[in-house]
Amino acid sequence: MQQFMIIADHPVIINRSASYKNITLRIVLSNPSIRISVPMHASKATIEHFFISNLEQIEAMQAEVFATAEASAKQYVTGEMHHLFGELYPLKVEESSQPSGGHFDNGTIYLSVKKGASRDDRGIVMDKFLRETLKEKTLEVAARLEPKMGVHANKFTMRLMKTRWGSCNINKKTISINLLLVQMPLICLESVVAHELVHLLETNHNKRFYSLMDQYYPAWQEANELLKEFSHKVD
Ligand SMILES: [Zn+2]
Repeated sequence: MQQFMIIADHPVIINRSASYKNITLRIVLSNPSIRISVPMHASKATIEHFFISNLEQIEAMQAEVFATAEASAKQYVTGEMHHLFGELYPLKVEESSQPSGGHFDNGTIYLSVKKGASRDDRGIVMDKFLRETLKEKTLEVAARLEPKMGVHANKFTMRLMKTRWGSCNINKKTISINLLLVQMPLICLESVVAHELVHLLETNHNKRFYSLMDQYYPAWQEANELLKEFSHKVD
């Protein structure tokens, strides 16, 4: 059983299991999220106490993960790690005479590029793959939410935006989604899609808006914390 907690401004993924006897901490190089495994009935106070007493070590481990990830600008070559919905996956680049494109399979991002493709060419193929992946996931999330909410968006557009995660044109019923969400944990995308769809029911960020968010996407506050946390860690 998995849940999210915010402890000392850190989003933490809690895994509960009857088979865990002790509280253990996990931060691995391939995934910057803080995960804590706890016995099934560990109290919130016990988990918080564990976290706070290990805070120095946790922050040092995280700093190392992010320093490693940011050490080099992306080259789009085989073996390079890329974020997809909050997890890091290796890239495998293959030269081919087939049309260029990307796909995800079994924990690996595959890019098929023209022979001798430059770094920028490979980056364009990657960008196209990320847009398609985000669009596909966005449509899936919307298809789940729309019938419950009784709304329908006419169009979703994936765009790189500087200041917003999403936007909604209420008259045209069109929604833009920030391309950066493809790198963040999935609940971030889900929450942004829910937020923009709620705008089709309520224009303003008022009490009714947030009560609709509570109703249709109860985890929106956790998602907001994750958005804050990840926004300066994606590239
Ligand atoms: Zn809004």
